[in-house]
Amino acid sequence: MIIVIKNGSEKKEVDRLVEKINSMGLVVNELCGFGATALSVIGDTSAIDVDLINSSAVVDKLYRIQDPYRIAGRNFHPQDTVIDVDGVKFGGDNFQIIAGPCSVESEEQIIRIAKAVKAAGATVLRGGAYKPRSSPYAFQGLKEEGISFLLSAKKEVGLPVITEIVSVNHLELFKDVDIIQVGARNMQNYELLRELGRSDKPVLLKRSMAATIEEWLMSAEYIMSEGNKNVILCERGIRTFEPSTRCTLDLSAVPLVKGKTHLPVFVDPSHAAGKTELVGPMALASVGAGADGIMVEVHDDPLCSLCDGAQALLPEDFDSVVEKIKAMLPVVGKSIQ
Ligand code: PEP
Ligand code: MN
Repeated sequence: MIIVIKNGSEKKEVDRLVEKINSMGLVVNELCGFGATALSVIGDTSAIDVDLINSSAVVDKLYRIQDPYRIAGRNFHPQDTVIDVDGVKFGGDNFQIIAGPCSVESEEQIIRIAKAVKAAGATVLRGGAYKPRSSPYAFQGLKEEGISFLLSAKKEVGLPVITEIVSVNHLELFKDVDIIQVGARNMQNYELLRELGRSDKPVLLKRSMAATIEEWLMSAEYIMSEGNKNVILCERGIRTFEPSTRCTLDLSAVPLVKGKTHLPVFVDPSHAAGKTELVGPMALASVGAGADGIMVEVHDDPLCSLCDGAQALLPEDFDSVVEKIKAMLPVVGKSIQ
């Protein structure tokens, strides 16, 4: 970290700042140039409160050289992380397709859709049991029963399953789930992230609709700093001023984040677009952007779906998207194992 000192600052004030930084176990060297002074701070600067240092009257500018997410960052872990979920590999040269309904609605529904998405080429089955809805009056999910129906579907079709957790108190119910999803609304639920960090269960961490890339990666760091290195990131659209789509899919985040972290990066075009007809094109664009996989909502009766029917692909449309993805994968050097 480099701290540029304001011209004309009092030495005793600069010394106070140096002392403060030294007290954090960091080494400070003074760099005196022609008419300018800067401090170079050496050591692990991730615990420094940048805003506090910036607020000092003697600080002109502050430049971070290291990213504040050490474990999730590529600097100390240059090679891609590959997460193996029962032989299904996430990251590296692998591409995975997570598909299924927004929510588990009944045992028959999830088994029926599981069979359809598996036949089309999905490699992981999704289905929400706990639904964090904007309205408290909307369908909130089948909860514990939803998880057990999802596990029946897993048994029936043999795909690993992913479902969303909304409370740290439910963790025990997720013991047989293969991947735990942390949704956009809980990306900054730090107690939940820490608790998930204490297990070794793979976690798919969605980007909050209002999070910067740095905040998203810091949330991954929360999980990883507790020991769990099995984190998959998922871009799902951010809020912008544009009302014609549910959110704005930030596709440039994919190559950008892949440059900053070694973790697998997925894209969920369904929640970003919010409209069925946009999901296929955005799924293909995600492949082009270098995503390690996609997560798509599929329903065989969208009109009667209890949640997010407006963005659900019909199984036959999903099938055709998968065919196109398969044609694109050799171009981006990835394959579905
Ligand atoms: C979901 O995947 O069902 C979901 C609620 O997504 P998000 O957290 O991205 O809104
Ligand atoms: Mn949904």
